[in-house]
Amino acid sequence: MGSRLPPMPRISEIVKLYRLSATKKLSQNFLLDMNVCHKFVNCISVTKGSHICEVGPGPGGITRALLESDAEKVHVIEKDKRFLPPLEALRAASGGRLDVHLGDAKYFDMHSLFPPYCARPWQKMTPKVNIVGNLPFNVSLGLLLKWLEQISKKSGPWQLGRVPLTLTFQHEVAERILADVDSEHRCRLSIMSQYLCKIKYRYHIPGKVFVPAPKVHAAVLYIEPLNTPLIDQPFSLVEKVVSTIFHYRQKHIKRGAQDLFPPIMSNLVDDFFKISRVDPTKQSFRLSMEEWRELCYAYEQLCLLNPGLIDYNYREPRAKHMLTTSPLVRTSNLNEL
Ligand code: SAM
Repeated sequence: MGSRLPPMPRISEIVKLYRLSATKKLSQNFLLDMNVCHKFVNCISVTKGSHICEVGPGPGGITRALLESDAEKVHVIEKDKRFLPPLEALRAASGGRLDVHLGDAKYFDMHSLFPPYCARPWQKMTPKVNIVGNLPFNVSLGLLLKWLEQISKKSGPWQLGRVPLTLTFQHEVAERILADVDSEHRCRLSIMSQYLCKIKYRYHIPGKVFVPAPKVHAAVLYIEPLNTPLIDQPFSLVEKVVSTIFHYRQKHIKRGAQDLFPPIMSNLVDDFFKISRVDPTKQSFRLSMEEWRELCYAYEQLCLLNPGLIDYNYREPRAKHMLTTSPLVRTSNLNEL
């Protein structure tokens, strides 16, 4: 199984040859050991006909392992142009299976990379498409949030179906993404990831495996969109409710919930808890996904009854002012729900 590449210099030799010193500003830490790169690729279900997009290939260790798998086509998106010469050499040796793109993954239209025939109905099997990457830790977190929003809207590459992601994270961040109810690690990221995706912890990567070695360890996570999200509300509404309530992590959730409503509508806080039937004296990290769903639903209901509430942001005093003076403001009548 797998494909062969012509003999090539080792990745560590390539790094020396092209003087590819890791840039601290871009948080670059490379995987130079091909055993480690193969381990990463082995935990992706690459089958014949798979199309893969690797984000941040750097000197190309994982890329090379992908080209030695059954992948039909590999695309790489790299922001740092210093890596173009070694990636071009890999492309030339790939027999047309590798395309190299210089760009920032944050703004890159990944959907355009995959042929339409890869698409699979959302409720059925996952498409033969994978998005993978060993990215700088700060970048992977920002990208994950962007991709979660696209998953919720079935936009970007998720127009093709439930495309899975395999990504490295700082170990501590991986723990937060996976954290269950009552865990000290449970936070906004846990809820935003878990309401949309099934997440599996693949394995731990000790910091010393990277060159240069960061002070922290890493973990590889497999993230697959769920058939049906656990909260049936727009991403922006879920994010608003979850982040506002998590703001006061150690206090009762009632404190955070107060910030969802302008002072003139403070009576809606009680309605919020009556509609959701969630205990206002709980702490945010002790709420189950069902309770988060009920809170989001209750907030949606109150927003439907109170035009303008959805745009209220307690961090923006101007928005607060507009709502407190708006003639459209209504308070809720629970009998209307
Ligand atoms: N994948 C390589 C490896 O495992 O050796 C490189 C890993 S290094 C941690 C991260 C790579 O992602 C670097 O090559 C960096 O230039 C690239 N990168 C960082 N931010 C990026 C972005 N927004 N879009 C594309 N590439 C990015």
